[in-house]
Amino acid sequence: MATATVPPSSATFSKSFYASLHEIPGGEKVRTCLQCGTCNGVCPFGYLMDYPPGKMIAALRAQRFERVTEAETVWMCVSCYACSQVCPVRIPLTAGLMTRAKEELLLAGNIPSELQIALENTQRYGNPLGESPRKRADWAKGVKPRVPIMSEERRPVEVLWFVGDYGSYHPRVQPVSRALANVFNALRIDFGILGAEEVSDGDSQRLAGERGLFEMLAAKNGRAFSQYEFKEIVTGDPHAYNAFKNEYPRLGIAYPVRHYTEFLAERLDALKPLLKHEVNARVTYHDPCYLGRANGVFEAPRQLLSAIPGIELVEMPHNRTTSLCCGGGGGGMWIDGFQWEKAHTRLSEWRVREAMKVGADILAVACPYEAPRFEDATKTVPGAARLIVRDIAELLAEAMGD
Ligand code: SF4
Ligand code: SF4
Repeated sequence: MATATVPPSSATFSKSFYASLHEIPGGEKVRTCLQCGTCNGVCPFGYLMDYPPGKMIAALRAQRFERVTEAETVWMCVSCYACSQVCPVRIPLTAGLMTRAKEELLLAGNIPSELQIALENTQRYGNPLGESPRKRADWAKGVKPRVPIMSEERRPVEVLWFVGDYGSYHPRVQPVSRALANVFNALRIDFGILGAEEVSDGDSQRLAGERGLFEMLAAKNGRAFSQYEFKEIVTGDPHAYNAFKNEYPRLGIAYPVRHYTEFLAERLDALKPLLKHEVNARVTYHDPCYLGRANGVFEAPRQLLSAIPGIELVEMPHNRTTSLCCGGGGGGMWIDGFQWEKAHTRLSEWRVREAMKVGADILAVACPYEAPRFEDATKTVPGAARLIVRDIAELLAEAMGD
């Protein structure tokens, strides 16, 4: 006769979750939480969460973690690293505590339906947008000289360009990919892309609690990387950059990687003579969470913008480590409806308001999540219709005369 499964007691569940945090690098520091509340205060949606990080740790200590898995407001976490940045005892809150909590919510079936669709699309098609893998390189049609695809070239290259999901498929981001291809071509960079062999880097899915899916995607990309000879990976996607730099090596997939802004900033001497056309505008730069706070790349994007003739670079009050999140990280890209229901505001709107306050004509970005998100926000923030959103690659191509 089958015996009924007895659910673990609240205390056992809390203890096993607590123990699982010790398997994460630095996770044992959770024991040193001071309950200072700084993380809760800095969290952009902390005021809406039943369990922002500090309160989650308090629930764990009280052996009440099952209450956390019942709280759907955990999904308001956009993995922005603001809490990790300010924690005085450096507890890995974003990639550790909050991500492990989301894994438990997924196991409990507590998941917004929009997120479920994005994860299923990724599982089935290799990208969260549900697009055909065969169309992954379609964005490059018409680029001259043509964008080389590694499986067709069959030769070593200097740079393997990882284009990413949004750069490959999203109608607002495909022009960014074409602009970057034009910049690479103008600089005579020897590069190639994976085309249909590329799948999602999986970092946002990992941070949304789907570690198994992340590992499957990493294995697929790792197999594709291993087939070709190249010196380094360059990507325009800070989420892919974070995955390749910090997460894939733990799975034995280790290659040098740089964000395109770092790669181009190193070539400023060659780039500057090509920037012949003035872009007369007051420009402010939004630091993406996964380029800035998570990986410390702050200056390369600013060096590129400063090299463009005519640009006056101004800073928003929240810049570098205090940058405001666009709301797209950690699965936020796929749960806009859920977050709107809870917050009746979007984080991207906060950022657009700040760009307006410093009198910017252009909000410059360097992450494929951002141009679509901020452009949408310019349509809903009163008076923001005049703010132009441009990726740095687009501004460089424009200054080259594209
Ligand atoms: S990572 Fe960002 S959104 Fe998530 S809990 Fe920390 S501060 Fe809040
Ligand atoms: S900032 Fe760090 S020490 Fe303070 S409550 Fe949050 S997790 Fe605990």
